[in-house]
Amino acid sequence: MARIVQKFGGTSVGDIERIRNVATKVKRDVDSGNEVAVVLSAMAGTTDQLVAWTRDAASNVDPREYDVVVSTGEQITTGLLAIILQDMGIPARSWASWQLPIKTDAAHTKARIRGIETASVETDLKAGRVAVFPGFQGISPDGRITTLGRGGSDTSAVALAAALDADRCDIYTDVEGVYTCDPRIVSKARKLERITYEEMLESASLGAKVLQARAVEMGMKHHVQIQVRSSFEDVPGTMVVDEDEIVEREIISAITYSREEAKITVAKVADKPGVAAAIFGPLADANINVDMIVQNVSEDGNQTDITFTVPEGDSLRAIDTIKQSQDAIGYQRIDHDADVVKISVIGVGMRSHAGVAQRMFKTLSEKAINIQVISTSEIKVSVLIAEEYTELALRALHSAYGMDVE
Ligand code: ADP
Ligand code: ASP
Ligand code: MG
Repeated sequence: MARIVQKFGGTSVGDIERIRNVATKVKRDVDSGNEVAVVLSAMAGTTDQLVAWTRDAASNVDPREYDVVVSTGEQITTGLLAIILQDMGIPARSWASWQLPIKTDAAHTKARIRGIETASVETDLKAGRVAVFPGFQGISPDGRITTLGRGGSDTSAVALAAALDADRCDIYTDVEGVYTCDPRIVSKARKLERITYEEMLESASLGAKVLQARAVEMGMKHHVQIQVRSSFEDVPGTMVVDEDEIVEREIISAITYSREEAKITVAKVADKPGVAAAIFGPLADANINVDMIVQNVSEDGNQTDITFTVPEGDSLRAIDTIKQSQDAIGYQRIDHDADVVKISVIGVGMRSHAGVAQRMFKTLSEKAINIQVISTSEIKVSVLIAEEYTELALRALHSAYGMDVE
């Protein structure tokens, strides 16, 4: 007997028929004698609609009330699955996050899980009852509903698997596993049998939304056995594993893209000590994450441009913040471009192989795609390019690194 956490994403619970399909997956693991806890997303599209309603309601939304609204989609699906399971003769109940509780910090809209009380659920699981949880939410220290950021049900599932000391955490989704690139864009992407936590974390952080980055972080820390697999096809998925469990290592394991970037250029600032600090200090104080940075070569030795990227949702706030520091920075102009995409190639094999970045630059240049900003780390190279070239760049790079399945 094992204890299993199963998580189903939005498409997998998109309508009643699909929730019935989820129930058959639950039944299969129950019938094999396992204890089963289930974590659900809202039906596909529901959370987007809820977010849109908060935007329509006011231009300045209280994040605590935003969380009250956007957390509701999951309450519907958990209740429906419990009803369907009971109808199939499987003992089950739904739990709200405050009933355990699932405790988070107070960072509304992007809260972090701090701890989960499992005592009452343990009793239920041991009595053979399936426990159904809403993903994506918890309770703040002062008892208010919080949400964990978009895609946060993955993190709920992995956190519950850790807290319940589960043997497995199966993430059921609308693709068959983790691929070398988003299979909806690159049809020649290959499904990976295994991926290391480190590569998965890097991929998720750089845009592969098949898992939320925090879920991978949590899995890595608590050694949760994560498998990403299909809700619709009964085939093996992708295991997320430690590095020593990978026998044949590829140099590049994944190519990702993120459209949620905006590029800001602070033009004609003085080329002297202290200017970068005057720009990035206030941005850090405003809790805005700056990602890629490039300082252009100063043509006359006096003035230069500084270009950087921030999350698209923070770009207007970033511009306001810089404007407030105009005196300290002394720039002439701020330019803003949201039509950009960050493309990254990732692989632990990069540590021991030269020429990975060069192949990326050469491939993009052959397609006449201009690189606007570059950043690298030990296991990835990222470039910022115009958003219109996303598909072209991904497919060309996927071929250039020899990753296409024929
Ligand atoms: P869910 O609703 O099940 O959580 P998501 O939409 O959050 O599903 O994540 C699954 C989607 O992630 C897939 O439909 C796919 O388009 C996208 N995706 C992006 N990169 C990858 C990748 N490397 N491997 C698999 N899927 C990916
Ligand atoms: N329903 C939430 C979202 O759409 C959480 C999730 O699906 O993981 O972001
Ligand atoms: Mg998701």
